[in-house]
Amino acid sequence: MSANSPAQPPFFHLGLVGYPLAHSLSPALHRAALNEAGLQGEYRLFPIPPHETDRLHLLLQQMRDGEIDGLNVTIPHKQSVLALLDELTPTAQAIGAVNTIARRGKVLIGHNTDAAGFLADLQRVCAMPAGIALVLGAGGAARAVTFALHQSGWQIWVAARRSEQAQQLVEQIAPEGRPLQLQALAETELRAVRLIVNATPLGMAPQIEQSPWPAHLSFPKQALVYDLVYNPAETKLIQTARAAGVPACGGLGMLIQQAALAFEMWTGFRPTYETLLGAVKQKE
Ligand code: NAP
Repeated sequence: MSANSPAQPPFFHLGLVGYPLAHSLSPALHRAALNEAGLQGEYRLFPIPPHETDRLHLLLQQMRDGEIDGLNVTIPHKQSVLALLDELTPTAQAIGAVNTIARRGKVLIGHNTDAAGFLADLQRVCAMPAGIALVLGAGGAARAVTFALHQSGWQIWVAARRSEQAQQLVEQIAPEGRPLQLQALAETELRAVRLIVNATPLGMAPQIEQSPWPAHLSFPKQALVYDLVYNPAETKLIQTARAAGVPACGGLGMLIQQAALAFEMWTGFRPTYETLLGAVKQKE
């Protein structure tokens, strides 16, 4: 936060680093949040390709120097940025990924608001007791979701196309969990599953015809399907689950909740869900 003189209101320099960023919804979300809070500020995009670490270093130095107050981090820097920060919250450390950077003086602190954002949205969609959750995929988002659910008492099964990746995730984040091979999921085993989370990019535009759910499998009847993909709002997975009578929702809610938590961390103001949803809808 920059203030030129005590009489001037603070101006928040915020932004997003990742690549590519052209279709990001974050500027609309955070600008709406600034507006709702009545705060002066900007939200800029810093597109930095995967291997341009010098530029990432430079950006973080600008933040240490006080030119930037808050940064969101997205693919491909969520993991690579860890080593460049001064402190990590226990959540970011456990997940092994950072999606939000805040500054205390010259100290850069890495947070992960994906985990709490997912949980907040799951509760908004459906307040259900903990049971067995099947997480599809074992990348960064799967790690955040697994961490959040595990902390809330869920039993975690992780199904990935590379079983060693599922095994590693389970060992590191939910040691009592069960690693599975995505292609080898068996219907009888899945009857007890209460929550299915898609944490793969399958179904995301432009490949909207794809689904992570194996075509030969029925959905467990008592389950809720939560697809982290938010573009399109209704993925193939959501469509097939609903057609089978299984409730399903997309990842826009999580995107909104993680943004609200990041914005609150930077400014002390928690934007409302409705304001942020309205900002996204205007972009559609
Ligand atoms: P990531 O780190 O690249 O992980 C993707 C995972 O999906 C990996 O396990 C990957 O396996 C697997 N996968 C990729 N293509 C696959 C395929 N064809 N078949 C089976 N598995 C496949 O990505 P991420 O950051 O976790 O993001 C995953 C998705 O979540 C993205 O669509 C992202 O937009 C979404 N997301 C949404 C939110 C939200 O707020 N709603 C937040 C974060 C992420 P391999 O390692 O073998 O490729």
